[in-house]
Amino acid sequence: MSCAPLTSMQSLAAELPEVPKEVVQENCPICLVSLHDKKYQTKNTYNCKKAHTFHSYCLNTLRLVQYKYTGNLSCYVCKVSLGKPKATIEKCSAMPVDNINAQDLYQKGTAQFQEYQSTQKFELMNECLINLSLAVDFDCEEAMGLLAKMELIAAQFYLKKVSEHAKELDLTSIHLLEKMLVSSSEHGNKKAETLKAESEFIIGNSYFLYSKSNADRYWISNAIEHFKKARELGYANASRFIGECELEAGKIILAGEKDRKDTFWLDIATTHFKEAMKYGIEEAKLLFAETELNIGKIKFSEAEMKSDTFWIKRALEPFECAHKNGNEEAKEFIFKVHIAIGKIHLKKGADESDSEWVELALESFEKAIQELDENAETLLSEGKLLTEEAEKLMRQLTSS
Ligand SMILES: [Zn+2]
Ligand SMILES: [Zn+2]
Repeated sequence: MSCAPLTSMQSLAAELPEVPKEVVQENCPICLVSLHDKKYQTKNTYNCKKAHTFHSYCLNTLRLVQYKYTGNLSCYVCKVSLGKPKATIEKCSAMPVDNINAQDLYQKGTAQFQEYQSTQKFELMNECLINLSLAVDFDCEEAMGLLAKMELIAAQFYLKKVSEHAKELDLTSIHLLEKMLVSSSEHGNKKAETLKAESEFIIGNSYFLYSKSNADRYWISNAIEHFKKARELGYANASRFIGECELEAGKIILAGEKDRKDTFWLDIATTHFKEAMKYGIEEAKLLFAETELNIGKIKFSEAEMKSDTFWIKRALEPFECAHKNGNEEAKEFIFKVHIAIGKIHLKKGADESDSEWVELALESFEKAIQELDENAETLLSEGKLLTEEAEKLMRQLTSS
């Protein structure tokens, strides 16, 4: 029993990782030029089980290339992750110039390209991209055509991924898709241009669907931006989606503001619905009218408490707007606004024995009654009663 701790100590020692050793390689794994040439700075990796050594220039170039093509960094030799990339990686130190080795990278990449065609292995795609791009970086111009081809293949790969998992909003794939298209086109592949419109549409759709299924308005402006680019590139169908985005933005705001009694967000929701209406979205018109009605109701109930005609009149505009856009309920409220204004005027007329106020009251009651059709009997009789009251007061004031 007493030797148990010793045994575990021994086995622990056996499991300890090897301490990184000094330079063990002869040549840089990337450019194959000697690591012992004092002209070039070298760098060791820390995360590899045994440290790997590179020319600083080559390792930094690799990092730039890897980050561009995979969004990750790993050792060129043992594939161990080298941690998160810094925001910017500058190339530094002297470049070991030797085109023969760029040729070697090109050949490696070409073999990987061919192997990828038959196996479709994701790792192969990345390694091929990295090798071909390194070859181009080391001035092997022949590699550029094949690199552009592989970049387009990668773009198609990510496009499929983004479109198949649209709701998940795979930002890494979106980022890589965009990079691959730009780069392929920069490297002279004309086909990359034709994929651009479809790609913009699919990216926009992913932002849109994500926003919709998560009730998250944040990504909608991004979605709109991409749909607009798709439309510019000839994707006519994107227009309708811009409208759908606006509709969704308005709906998300409404859902979040259900219980609140201020008009600030409702006003913003109506601007989205209004935009959506420009793209012919029928549902937006309905919601626009309904929201305007609610804005009117909030303004009206606030104003009624103040008994001030100035504030009451401000509720009229949203009610009229709602009515113009097909909301029938709004008529009743337009009636109520005029009645409320009329009542205030009538009271003033009575208090101050001033027939001019009564005149104004009568005008308001008349406007109120005009809003109704014959079916609204209760409201009509309310309007008529008030009119009679005002006329009676008018007779009293003018006869005295
Ligand atoms: Zn090197
Ligand atoms: Zn390594």
